[in-house]
Amino acid sequence: MLKGKTAVVTGGTRGIGFAVVKKYLENGANVALAGSRQETVEKALSQLTEYKDRVMGICPDLCSPEEVAAAFASVKERFGSFDILANNAGISSRTSLYDYTVEEFSKILDLNLKAVFVCSQAAARLMKEQGGGVIINTSSMVSKNGQPSGCGYPATKFAVDGLTISLARELAKDQIRVNAVAPGVTRTDMVAALPKEMVDRISAGIPLGRPGEPEDIANAFLYLGSDMASYVTGIILRADGAAMN
Ligand code: NAD
Repeated sequence: MLKGKTAVVTGGTRGIGFAVVKKYLENGANVALAGSRQETVEKALSQLTEYKDRVMGICPDLCSPEEVAAAFASVKERFGSFDILANNAGISSRTSLYDYTVEEFSKILDLNLKAVFVCSQAAARLMKEQGGGVIINTSSMVSKNGQPSGCGYPATKFAVDGLTISLARELAKDQIRVNAVAPGVTRTDMVAALPKEMVDRISAGIPLGRPGEPEDIANAFLYLGSDMASYVTGIILRADGAAMN
């Protein structure tokens, strides 16, 4: 479904991002996985040796326009185009408002929102130049109803939805589609860090009767990244088993 396309996946070293990287490679894309540390990038690449001609690692500070632009240019230089950006890197929080420091709030805003802006801008510049492309952001089911602690996390995901819909409208004239995937509870390290009772309680309320697997979410990224979604832009695609939070 993605033969000949080139994709960058931020936070591609593990969890949902790594599943997207694998799904894209299986479907013929060239992929650059972006991680926060060279060591984790190398570890992820070591699990993808069968695709070694079509995969590379990059490690820019996702909030630095200069580092991101240089890293994305290196991807275009290696593979010849820049077609899909999956903005997946993100961190979560459960901190109560009473304990939330400004530093912690800024940290989550930086990665979950500012980095999405910085990476989208750098990608859009390359995509416009080549006549089009696709940006896929990672929202969350909490972007609808919020959550009862860790207010910074849903705040960033509501903002990601706003950025997605606004950029879809702004970039349509450049043939750049912008959508988001909103996962429900998905079995990754992010969820492993939550108390078991909390995960059990959330899972019990999922109509499909199970938490999502990273591959379930990667399938949504595959659809939106492919030409199957050629007339789809500005949507927040829920992949949450119909969970209501
Ligand atoms: P994860 O913790 O397993 O992986 C997060 C990824 O982000 C890792 O690859 C990590 O290296 C990267 N990352 C973390 N800090 C970074 C930084 N400073 N710079 C660059 N990269 C950094 O998480 P996950 O569950 O796979 O989550 C991926 C995305 O899905 C996030 O945006 C998250 O908000 C969203 N999401 C996850 C769930 C879930 O239940 N797991 C639900 C809804 C939304």
